[in-house]
Amino acid sequence: MNTTKSKQLFEKAKRYIPGGVNSPVRAFKSVGGEPIFIERGSGSKFYDADGNEYIDYIGSWGPHLFGHNPPFIKKALAEAFEKGTSFGAPTELEVRMAQLITELVPSVEMVRMVNSGTEATMSAIRTARGYTNKEKFIKFEGCYHGHADYFLIKAGSGALTLGVPTSPGVTKGNAADTLLADFNDIESVKKLVYANKNNVAAIIIEPIAGNMGVVKADESFLVELRNLCNEENIVLIFDEVMTGFRVAAGGAQEILGIKPDLTTFGKIIGGGLPVGAFGGKREIMEMVAPAGPVYQAGTLSGNPLAMAAGYAALSYIKEHPEIYVQLEKSSIYLENGFKENLKAIGKNYAMNRVGSMMSMFFIEEPVNDFKSAVKSDTALYGKYFHEMLKRGIYLAPAQFEALFISTAHTKEDLDKTINAHKESLVAVLK
Ligand code: PMP
Repeated sequence: MNTTKSKQLFEKAKRYIPGGVNSPVRAFKSVGGEPIFIERGSGSKFYDADGNEYIDYIGSWGPHLFGHNPPFIKKALAEAFEKGTSFGAPTELEVRMAQLITELVPSVEMVRMVNSGTEATMSAIRTARGYTNKEKFIKFEGCYHGHADYFLIKAGSGALTLGVPTSPGVTKGNAADTLLADFNDIESVKKLVYANKNNVAAIIIEPIAGNMGVVKADESFLVELRNLCNEENIVLIFDEVMTGFRVAAGGAQEILGIKPDLTTFGKIIGGGLPVGAFGGKREIMEMVAPAGPVYQAGTLSGNPLAMAAGYAALSYIKEHPEIYVQLEKSSIYLENGFKENLKAIGKNYAMNRVGSMMSMFFIEEPVNDFKSAVKSDTALYGKYFHEMLKRGIYLAPAQFEALFISTAHTKEDLDKTINAHKESLVAVLK
């Protein structure tokens, strides 16, 4: 595989951009080697600066439910572009977008658009604090909620893979208000709640975690979490930045049957443009400025291009519920193919999947929380990643992430991937 141009670009990039990338995991630090630079994408594939083709399983880290550049999103963007890129004044499309979100996710009665997942989670926490008049919040080890200071306490995703669970620049004061519980362990949550009686504003969780690899919360655990929040007047926030509109049109909360008080969105909601949103119970959302006193704002929030792309994505989802059947079918096919490969080579690696999110861990025992996830042999994952890349399969360049299947992945793509998976495992295990 010739990657001369990517190498040249990376050398130059490092001179002008910290680490040569605009978001850390892209740099291949945890898998070794150097990043490839992408030139264009189409459907299930993208192409690098040297012209190499890859079947893409990160889909820009989740947004591309329909693959790259689907015609209906392109069309919506082109139409919006003709009218102007941003006005800083309200538009009808924002109203339609908000209404559509409330239709798809019934726990959301009101919603505020923002520009990223981080803004969504940050604003949800502030709103919960304002609503309850309490200061601390609980998060779970291995869950990632973006890079606001008080989330970077044993965070998942890039912060986990790079081995910097906390970051310089985060103050002790910030860290003191973040309480850390164990995923899937209600006793660890209760302990914190009772030790901080009447001072826990919110509990935030990825109900299906994707940032320690894919790890689903037990339904009984979530039911107990819901009850605890009711009893203690704590705002339950589901971070559905990754799972929203991916695992079902109504997100993880639809398939788990649990209603959070607030939900955060990102990724798919922007149709590939930088968008996030947070929403939930009317009574809580009416705390947000200018309806209420909790300040939250954004120069480009709800801008017409982002709304056009996001609205096109969500409308497509609403009008085509069958896509989730198709995604499930493709995802089962890939999972079964991987499982057969593992059987053939005598390995019983943990494989977690919910809908079109999937992770294989290099550990032969179940993975159901952070502590079991980090037992995975990440060095082996790095080798496996490069073997797959050589065979034209682009996976997340880090173990503690999800593989995303899109509606654009064809049977031919999946077969090629299953074949590459087998060859790659044989190569790394020999
Ligand atoms: N929450 C979750 C669950 C995420 O997966 C992410 C990003 N991967 C974020 C929040 C932060 O979103 P963003 O990168 O858009 O700020």
